[in-house]
Amino acid sequence: MLGNGNMYLMVTKDYFFIKMIGGPLAMQKNVQVIYDSLYDYYGPQSWWPADTLFEMMIGSILVQNTNWRNVDKALLQLKPFLKPELIYEMPIDELAQLIRSSGFYNIKAKRIKAFMEWFQTHDYKIEQIKNIESKQLRNELLRINGVGKETADVMLLYAFDKPIFIVDAYARRIFYRLGFDMPTSYDGFRNEVEKEMPRNLIVYNEYHALLVEHAKVHCKSTPICEGCPLKSICDQRLS
Ligand code: SF4
Repeated sequence: MLGNGNMYLMVTKDYFFIKMIGGPLAMQKNVQVIYDSLYDYYGPQSWWPADTLFEMMIGSILVQNTNWRNVDKALLQLKPFLKPELIYEMPIDELAQLIRSSGFYNIKAKRIKAFMEWFQTHDYKIEQIKNIESKQLRNELLRINGVGKETADVMLLYAFDKPIFIVDAYARRIFYRLGFDMPTSYDGFRNEVEKEMPRNLIVYNEYHALLVEHAKVHCKSTPICEGCPLKSICDQRLS
């Protein structure tokens, strides 16, 4: 449920590497074919939209239950203070006012503060946090008040370089319409995809971004199936 922005953190210079892992397109329906088809059609998305990894993590909390346009407005207000020490010290009421445009701003201010408490225990050192083993880091993030699985996985993937599949409403919608009966649980869905995909950071980075793009361009609430790159393998289940 994330949007576009101006600058991007990930450089997809490994495009050909990704394609090599993906292999030639088979005309069967599987998670790799979906990835390849979307990548061929939309090209590299090079996410996440943010100037810094810290901004990226704050953005992942702000985007809960809203669209990226509102997050952009909040980040613009927050921009002069987007340093860990400043956000940590900032009174919660002041923070809430600055992020007002993202909606649920009192709740989100509390969540950002809870996140900052955790981040401070790691001395705000992202490179150091990257060294923590994936499962352990995920558990740490999930213990933070207001960080659910989707937010934790967004941070793991886009800030801490852990290859992980993000399950969001767009992924659920697209896979369902294609004809997949994915598990209803978050981790069940995630595991189903991950067992079919190579453990490659750029692939997971691109996969989430491509699904979001597809949900905005073709597979909207009312889909535009004409010209859709997945049409030949889609069951077009709409109910
Ligand atoms: S064919 Fe239609 S329903 Fe299927 S993925 Fe494309 S836009 Fe969505």
